[in-house]
Amino acid sequence: MHTLAEWTALAQTLEFRNLAWIDGGFRAAISGDTFPAINPATEELLAEVASCDSADIDAAVVAARRVFKSGEWSRSAPAERKRVLLKLADLMEQHSDEFALLDTLDMGKTINEMVYIDVPDAIDCLRWTAECIDKVYGEIAPTKPSTLGLITRHPIGVVGAITPWNYPLLMAMWKLAPALAAGNSVVLKPSEKASLSCLRLAELARKAGLPDGVLNVVPGFGHTAGKALALHMDVDSLAFTGSTRVAGMLMQYAGQSNLKRVWIEAGGKSPLIVFDDCADIEAAARGAAGAIFSNQGEVCIAGSRLYVQNSIREPFIEALKRFAGKYQPGNPLDPKVKMGPMVDRAQLDTVNRYIQSAIDEGGTIAHGGLADTDGQGFYPRPTIVTDTRPDMTCVREEIFGPVLSVAGFDSEEEVIALANDSIYGLGASIWTDNLSRAHRVAAAIESGMVWVNGWGEGDTTMPFGGVKGSGNGRDKSLHALEKYSELKSVWISL
Ligand code: NAD
Repeated sequence: MHTLAEWTALAQTLEFRNLAWIDGGFRAAISGDTFPAINPATEELLAEVASCDSADIDAAVVAARRVFKSGEWSRSAPAERKRVLLKLADLMEQHSDEFALLDTLDMGKTINEMVYIDVPDAIDCLRWTAECIDKVYGEIAPTKPSTLGLITRHPIGVVGAITPWNYPLLMAMWKLAPALAAGNSVVLKPSEKASLSCLRLAELARKAGLPDGVLNVVPGFGHTAGKALALHMDVDSLAFTGSTRVAGMLMQYAGQSNLKRVWIEAGGKSPLIVFDDCADIEAAARGAAGAIFSNQGEVCIAGSRLYVQNSIREPFIEALKRFAGKYQPGNPLDPKVKMGPMVDRAQLDTVNRYIQSAIDEGGTIAHGGLADTDGQGFYPRPTIVTDTRPDMTCVREEIFGPVLSVAGFDSEEEVIALANDSIYGLGASIWTDNLSRAHRVAAAIESGMVWVNGWGEGDTTMPFGGVKGSGNGRDKSLHALEKYSELKSVWISL
C-alpha cells in the first residue's frame, strides 16, 4: 500500500478520460455539452465530462447492434471470449492503482476500500465469469424417443446497463462481465456522479481485443442519456443498479417501448439483529459499525436498522459507539482513513435532513449528529440514533449515508416482524450462536441475502440481489448469466 504522499503524487499524474466511448473510440457529446466531475474531498474540478443524450445513445446502440449482428463477438467461441476477458482482467491488474485513484477522486470512497475491495473484486468478477463461459452447457430435455429436444442459450443482443456511483467500477463490472461473456453487446450509462473509471475500462477493453462496438460507455444524466437508453426500441434488455424510485421508472419505459426485460438491483434498508446468545459481542459491535459506516454508508446493503435484544442493549450500544469512533472522516487518499466524504453536497444535505428528522421525531443521538456543511469537502458525521420506533422516517427510508437507527426487542418472533416491516428486502445480518435460531431466522427474513455472524461477506461465487422493493435479479455467480441470455427450445423430429 502506498503512503498518503505517494497516492497524492500519483493522483497528480492521472489523465482523465472524459469523452464518451462509442464504437471503439472517444468522442464528445454530439450536443457538445459537458458536466463537471468534482472531487468531493476538495470540491476541485477533475474534468468536464461529455454530457450525452439520446443522439449519442442512438449512435452507441447502432454500433452495438451492428457488431452483434456481425457475429464477431456474439458468435465467437466461448473460449475466445474468455481469452479476451482474461486479458482485460490482467490489464486492469496492471492499472489497479489508477482504477483505485479514479473512483476515490471521483466519488470520495477511501483508497483503502478501493485497493482491498472494489478493484480486486471487480477483477475477480471478470476473471471468474470469463473462466465459466466455456464450461456452461445446454440441456437435452426428456422428450419422447421420436424427438430430440435441445434447450440452448443465446446472447440477448444489445444490453443497456445503467449503474450507480457508490461502487462505480464494481457495479459496472457486475453487469459487464456476464453480459460480455455471454456474447452480448453493451451500452453502459454510468452515473453522472462517477463515470471516469468506466471510461478508462472501456479503453482497456479495446486493448484486450474486444471488437469495436461491443462495449460502449456513454456518460450523461439519468433523465437524458439514461432515459433514452431505457426507451430505446433496439435495446433488448436493461440491467440496472440504483434506487428503487428510478427502477420503477425503467419498468415504465420498458412498457412504453419494446417490453425489454428490466433487471433490477435497487435500494435497501437492511436489518442487523443481535441476539443475547451471541457469544462475541465485541465482534458483533465491530461488524455493526462496519455495516453502516464503511463506504460512508453509501452501500445498498448497509446494515442501517440495528435491532439488539434488550437484555444486552446498553453494553452493546457502548461497544458500538467505541467502534463508531474509529470512523473519523478524513482525506480518502490517506490509507489510514476509514471514512471519506459523501459523493456530493446534495447527498450530505440528505444525510443531515434525515438526522434532523430523527431528532424531530423523538430519537436520541447517541453518537455523531448533524455535519457541518460549511467546510471544504462533503464530510458527514457517523451517527447512531437510539430510541427509534418503526414509524420513524429514519427507520423506514433508505438514507444512503452513515446513519444507524437502533431499537431493542425481546423475542425472536418480535424481531422477525420488525425486520420484515420494510418495503425493501436486500440483505440481513443475524448475530447468534444458536444454530437452530440462525437457520430459523435466516429462513424467515424477507431478503435476498442473509449473513450469520457477519455482514457483507461476498465473492463472485454467490448471487447478490434482493426481493420486494430491492429488485428482481441477481448479480454474480452463474445465476447472473441467466440475465444475459435467451433460452431457445429446438425440437428435432427423429
Ligand atoms: P439512482 O437511481 O439515482 O441512479 C442510478 C442510475 O440511474 C444513474 O446512472 C442515473 O443517472 C440513472 N438514472 C436516474 N434517473 C434515470 C431515468 N429517469 N432514466 C434512466 N436512468 C436514470 O441511484 P444512485 O443514487 O446512483 O445510487 C444509489 C442507489 O443505488 C441506492 O438506492 C442503492 O441502494 C442502490 N444500489 C443498489 C445496489 C444493489 O445491488 N441492489 C448496489 C448499489 C447501489
